[in-house]
Amino acid sequence: MSPRTPSRNPLKPKERMAIPRQEMPQADPHERAHNYEEVNLGFELDLAKQEALRCLECASPKCTQGCPVGVDVRAFVDLVVAGDYLGAAAKIREANVLPAVTGRVCPQEHACEGVCILNAKVPPLAIGHLERFVADYERKSNSIGLPPIAPSTGKKVAIVGSGPAGLACAGDLIQKGHAVTVFEALHEIGGVLVYGIPAFRLPRDIVRNEVDNLRKMGVVFETNVVVGKTVTVDELFAEGFGAVFVATGAGLPNFLGVPGEHLNGVYSANEWLTRVNLMNARSFPEYDEPTFDCRGKDVAVVGGGNTALDGIRTSLRLGARKAYLIYRRSEKEMPARVEEVRHAKEEGVELHMLTNPVEFLGDDKGNLVAARCVKMTLGEPDASGRRRPIPLPGSQYDIPLSMVVIAAGTSANPIVQSTTPDLKTREKGYIVADPESLKTSKPGVFAGGDIVTGGATVILAMGAGRKAAQGIHEYLTTGDWEPAN
Ligand code: FAD
Repeated sequence: MSPRTPSRNPLKPKERMAIPRQEMPQADPHERAHNYEEVNLGFELDLAKQEALRCLECASPKCTQGCPVGVDVRAFVDLVVAGDYLGAAAKIREANVLPAVTGRVCPQEHACEGVCILNAKVPPLAIGHLERFVADYERKSNSIGLPPIAPSTGKKVAIVGSGPAGLACAGDLIQKGHAVTVFEALHEIGGVLVYGIPAFRLPRDIVRNEVDNLRKMGVVFETNVVVGKTVTVDELFAEGFGAVFVATGAGLPNFLGVPGEHLNGVYSANEWLTRVNLMNARSFPEYDEPTFDCRGKDVAVVGGGNTALDGIRTSLRLGARKAYLIYRRSEKEMPARVEEVRHAKEEGVELHMLTNPVEFLGDDKGNLVAARCVKMTLGEPDASGRRRPIPLPGSQYDIPLSMVVIAAGTSANPIVQSTTPDLKTREKGYIVADPESLKTSKPGVFAGGDIVTGGATVILAMGAGRKAAQGIHEYLTTGDWEPAN
């Protein structure tokens, strides 16, 4: 964290706490439920200034400790108070290469805002909204405060996967003077940020703009390269890369394993969202990507995370008549961001909580017609710390449906592991990596993000990318190697 500057906030602590938390302006729920425009509209200058004045400027700010990439929140908010918005953006960029992204999709309530000292008496500082404000201000003013780049070390690093883990790692390594190439299997850079999270939460231009900033810093991107198929990890070393960071994510969809999942109209969330977002199925007839036509149909998504919310809100935008969210626990246990649940309800999504599908029913042509569900109750906490859902005997009922999307979690993307035999994995194919250096069992190979932890969050993946960059830098400059076990 930067040395403390004298406060530029003219208000006394009591006066700061008397200012209410400024609300994020948002699009009308009835209109936005039928279009792909961004739901949150962002702070204007006056709202941002007013919100920034609420910061208590703690001597030892918990918000920075609660941020997996360590953004110096107090310093950037102070710059907002001083009216130096570009300076504020540059301050965030010292730790975070994707501020316009994290300002939109971070679960701040579980990170920086969750530990904000204001929580003791009043709602926390809207750190995410302020981060988004300064990142947008910087982009609109066309003067991005890119960090300085160290002189070339002559070392080359390959990054496999262009999600938040790969991008954060690339941003730090390029600043340290290493040559960085990111290899991505898909045709667009961004990982889940472009194939999973819909544009009404995270417009594509925002991601492209952040990727362009990395390009300007010198990062090279190669798309349509499936590492493990097009080129192996060992071939990358043979080509002169000194280290490889595997950040391939957890994009393999889980299914429920119940009868009827093969029926027409049953999708995995990954396939559904990828077709709609990345392959532009939402822009028919401009793009002729085949997907289920849910206009006027009743659609359900099974799950309680961000993916489930994105799936069901997408179905509304594609014309679904009824949109149900089916989740086996209660709303309190839903892992999704609180804001997404609120937005979904405002848009007309019906929540069927404590409900679990046990079978999907089809007609004689193999098309889905209903989900057979049972009601659940909650028992003792399970390994995840959440109360275990238990079926209620005799509670079976059918929900008529034309389409169902399964968002019941994901597993490790397997291709790199299956073609790199000396890379140690644990259950479900996740790569074993040292939690601090992110070294794997194979010399020169590091791994981080969802491919190590399982599906998590953008900011945790970015935190892993930053740790890996530090580990790789030390390895390239010292040659020391202690394998993970
Ligand atoms: P990914 O983002 O999955 O990126 C991995 C990349 O590696 C992909 O681009 C993939 O194509 C590529 N790849 C895979 N195999 C290969 C290979 N062999 N060769 C080359 N490239 C390869 N988190 C939040 O914090 N907030 C949210 O609101 C949120 N919403 C979400 C919504 C959805 C629909 C989903 C699916 C996830 C959401 N998450 C959210 C979770 C978050 O997006 C992930 O935790 C994060 O993206 C993980 O980053 P990553 O870099 O590890 O992997």
